[in-house]
Amino acid sequence: MKTAPQGLKPRSCCGTHGTLRQAQGRLKVVPFQNRKTHGMVKIVPFQNRETHGMANVMPFQNLLSQRAASAGLRRISRIAAAVLPAALGLLALLQSHLPLMAQSQAPERFVVVLDAGHGGDDPGGRLEDKSGKVTEEKSFALALSERLRSLLAARGIAVVTTRAADIAVSPDRRAEIANQAKAQACLSLHATMSGTGVHLYTSSLAPAAAGSASSPIPWKTAQAQWVAQSLSLAGALNNALVHAGIPVITGSTSLSAIDSMGCPAVAVELAPLNDAGGGQVNGPADPGYQAHLAEALAAALVEWRAEARKP
Ligand SMILES: [Zn+2]
Repeated sequence: MKTAPQGLKPRSCCGTHGTLRQAQGRLKVVPFQNRKTHGMVKIVPFQNRETHGMANVMPFQNLLSQRAASAGLRRISRIAAAVLPAALGLLALLQSHLPLMAQSQAPERFVVVLDAGHGGDDPGGRLEDKSGKVTEEKSFALALSERLRSLLAARGIAVVTTRAADIAVSPDRRAEIANQAKAQACLSLHATMSGTGVHLYTSSLAPAAAGSASSPIPWKTAQAQWVAQSLSLAGALNNALVHAGIPVITGSTSLSAIDSMGCPAVAVELAPLNDAGGGQVNGPADPGYQAHLAEALAAALVEWRAEARKP
């Protein structure tokens, strides 16, 4: 799946991302210290946290005169004597409940990021249904994101969206949201009037092996270490879509938001559903077609969660 299949040339989805990519010229190097959580947040080691906390506390004798310090200490001793027995009692109570709390700990949180393409002054493509009604791709993407969010929430899957309104979101911001969410899957939602069925795109970056836990990852190519997982996610989506009777074409392309994501990520582009004669049965703007797609994607993500939780 590294190269595009016959008849599908690698390209910028909807033709709009290439422009956005050029606008994002700078290289951002982000520490990537905790690969297990594949978040790009800075993880501060515990001992550093303690040090940082202590650095903000002025030494006691610097704050008070010697005499005031003695008086203060006496007051603190009296307060401590009154409070300590209760604190120790609370501690003992907590300790007695610790095994129970550990047993009832929830499994690792499974988070899906839904990235509705376009938005704001970027309308995306024009989608036309059989009656000639035109829908902008940005509206389609937001509607699909909302629909899918409801389905996933009903299945107990936590969802983070890159936008919940008609606003512009930069590719870097989309990637930041996905990386901060420590998502187990990200779907970028798009639509087109060309082709048929659903197009699934993974990043065209050359797959890279994970480096050492402390080595930084270039922001623009973070996805390189996740290409294999993204292909697996595309496989799960493909299975569910085919099962739902929706033809699928898979390929790889350069998508600046996805290229900067440190999680399994696939661009899902809905194209019209045509009959055997090439006539359009359903267009991407058709609510029934969207609902059918959303159900299939939700089923795929439930399956993906089951795979992720396998020991
Ligand atoms: Zn698009």
